[in-house]
Amino acid sequence: MLFDTHCHLDHSKFDEDRTEVLERARAAGVGLMMVVSTSEANSRQVLALVEQHPDLYAAVGVHPSDAAAWDEGTYARLRELARHPKVRAIGEIGLDYYWDYPREAQFRAFRAQIRLARELGLPIVIHDRDAHEDVVRVLEEEGAGEVGGIMHCWSGDWALAERCLALGFYLGFGGTLTYPRNEAIREVARRAPIDRIVIETDSPYLPPVPHRGRRNEPAYVRHVAEFLAELRGMAYPDLAALVTANAKRLLRIP
Ligand SMILES: [Zn+2]
Ligand SMILES: [Zn+2]
Repeated sequence: MLFDTHCHLDHSKFDEDRTEVLERARAAGVGLMMVVSTSEANSRQVLALVEQHPDLYAAVGVHPSDAAAWDEGTYARLRELARHPKVRAIGEIGLDYYWDYPREAQFRAFRAQIRLARELGLPIVIHDRDAHEDVVRVLEEEGAGEVGGIMHCWSGDWALAERCLALGFYLGFGGTLTYPRNEAIREVARRAPIDRIVIETDSPYLPPVPHRGRRNEPAYVRHVAEFLAELRGMAYPDLAALVTANAKRLLRIP
C-alpha cells in the first residue's frame, strides 16, 4: 500500500474527473492520500473534500503565495479548522523566493503557523523554494523540532538534509526525484535514513517520469516509489511498506 503524502486533489484541474482520478489511485495501490492546503479559503475546500472519502486526510494552512492575506484573525480561524478530525498536519507553509511574494508577510505567516502547530501538537508540511537557509533558520528559531513534519518536494543538498533530519523532519520526495538533471536530490534520497523518507506527488504539479508534461495525479506516486526502490537497491514491496509506515507514524494514522 502506498501513501501519497502531498497532493492537491481539490484543484480545479481535477473537477471534471476527480472520481476517476481517485479510482485510478486506489487501483494503483494508493490507499492513503493527504490533501494539502494553500490558503484559508482553500483549507475549507480541502476539508469539504476529505470528509467525503475515508482514504483522504488533510493539512490546513497558508502557503507563502497567500501570506499577504494573513491578518489578526487568521491564527484563530485556522486553529478552528485544524480541530477537524481529519486534519493531520499544518501546511503547506514556508518560504518561496522563486516568485515575488512579499517577504515580510511570508515570514509572519510562516512563524505564526509554526507556533500554531506547536500549540496543537501537529506536524508541519514545509514548502521551501529557493529559500533553504531562511527556512531552516526559522524552523530552528521557532522550535519546530518539537512537532517535526515533512520537508515536501525535497530540493536541497546533503548538508541541508542533515540539518532537517537533526530537527526531526522527514524528507518528502516526489516527481522531481526522477528528473535527469536532479542528481543532487538523488544523492540525498540515497543517503537519508530509510525511516525518515516519505513520498508524494504534489499533483496536479510536477509529474514524475514517464508522465512529464501532463497533469500529475496520485496514482503516479507509484513511479516515485519504484524509482526510489531502484535507487536504494531495495525490493519494491519492502520500500513501499517502509515509506508508508513512516508517513502513518508521523501523521498518526492507525
Ligand atoms: Zn509546495
Ligand atoms: Zn503542494
